[in-house]
Amino acid sequence: AMPVALAKGEFVPHYQPLYRLSDLKVVGVEALARWQRPDGLPALNPQQFIDLAERTGLIRPLGRALLEQACRQGAAWREEGHDLLVSVNLSPLQLGEPGLAAEVADILHRTGLPAHRLQLEITESAAADQHRDRLRELAALGLRLAVDDFGTGYANLTVLSRLPVTGLKVAGELVADLDTAAPAAADILRHTIGLCHDLGIEVTAEGLETEARERLVSELGCDLGQGYLFARPAPPAEIGVLLG
Ligand code: C2E
Ligand code: CA
Repeated sequence: AMPVALAKGEFVPHYQPLYRLSDLKVVGVEALARWQRPDGLPALNPQQFIDLAERTGLIRPLGRALLEQACRQGAAWREEGHDLLVSVNLSPLQLGEPGLAAEVADILHRTGLPAHRLQLEITESAAADQHRDRLRELAALGLRLAVDDFGTGYANLTVLSRLPVTGLKVAGELVADLDTAAPAAADILRHTIGLCHDLGIEVTAEGLETEARERLVSELGCDLGQGYLFARPAPPAEIGVLLG
């Protein structure tokens, strides 16, 4: 059913605000795919339909469609005076496409979103050396590249120095584990964040659900926060209200 749903425009991004922790201002949004199924059909978990799209290859046209919608929305918010960073998840399969940078450049041109207001989120494993040239092409467009879900994989710090990465998103699980982890875990995270700052990399804490965790990640030096504590992913009209 997914190719038909894609053709009908049933896949749309919802947006989750990214808050600057120093003043709790919304400085960006992450676009998250939602499948708006026709009446009566149950909602499907994005992780499930994204996994399926990765296995069938549909993630290529689906990812492109979502990227274009997110860029168009970002440009519309700019028109309204909200200068937000629009952060979009990129599948490793998309990174394998030779024409990706040209396609992204074309989408930016057509939607009118300036390149520096787009961030692409890539998984740690996709940030591996095999995609180095493609990542450099993307970075050369002037957009931002963030390593997503940091701490759930190998947490390989060398990618940060070898690749043109501008952002790091610390997985909520990693922050949640600090409660039970050895005391050294918080120190390791603090130093990782310090290293990121030395490299000019901005750090976002994901999955913030409690004020205690928000305080902790602020204290550890995170720049931005995202999570149910602040706001859940929502359609663009609901995000507009949060922007003031
Ligand atoms: P992700 O990139 O790690 O996105 C964050 C997920 O955490 C989102 O789930 C979001 O709704 C959820 N989340 C946000 N705040 C909290 C919180 O405080 N607590 C908890 N427990 N969860 C929180 P969602 O929307 O279900 O997306 C799941 C995954 O699907 C994403 O994980 C991403 O890997 C993938 N995905 C979503 N949209 C796209 C897309 O457009 N393209 C690609 N390639 N992948 C996508
Ligand atoms: Ca993400």
